[in-house]
Amino acid sequence: MSKAKRVPHILISEADLQRRVEELAREIDRDYATCERLIAIGVLKGSVFFMVDLLKLVNVPVQVDFFQTSSYGEGTEPGEVRIRKDIDLSIRGADVLLIEDIVDTGYTLRTILDLLRFRGAKSVKLCALLDKVERREVEVPIDYRGFEIEDKFVVGYGLDYADFYRDLPYIGIYEGDGGDA
Ligand code: 5GP
Repeated sequence: MSKAKRVPHILISEADLQRRVEELAREIDRDYATCERLIAIGVLKGSVFFMVDLLKLVNVPVQVDFFQTSSYGEGTEPGEVRIRKDIDLSIRGADVLLIEDIVDTGYTLRTILDLLRFRGAKSVKLCALLDKVERREVEVPIDYRGFEIEDKFVVGYGLDYADFYRDLPYIGIYEGDGGDA
């Protein structure tokens, strides 16, 4: 097996992910039951696997759109976030549910949440699968949180290392490239 496909140490199993995603979907259904226009916005690429599973279980009608932001090391200063792909939909007057894979320092979400409010959304809430709370540098209120995790680099279920591992059905701790599998 290639190194890139080596199975990392499992932190959250597929069954635990599916159970929690189901619970989050029920909470979202309850909270948005009377909502007139709900837009779910994912942050590419990491949120995609989580977002697909979540929205298949949400019963409230929802429109779907995506942002893509620059990741660290692509000519950005720490804490500097650039929008590489903007959403296509107008969000004025809509209830927006922002969906993210992981909140780490909080800079990415802070930037996007401010932008969504500035564009006239009626409400903006955040749904994040993982919360690395120890690493937070700017405050970001998480309305729907899957799991709080320790400060380890994780992959799987959308989260990558060099764009590998997104397809793992669980969350694993990435332990580096040492040795062959
Ligand atoms: P923040 O702006 O909150 O520091 O960073 C959020 C982004 O950093 C996430 O969307 C994700 O792309 C990346 N990130 C932060 N922690 C991890 C991690 O443990 N694993 C992976 N694969 N990406 C991470």
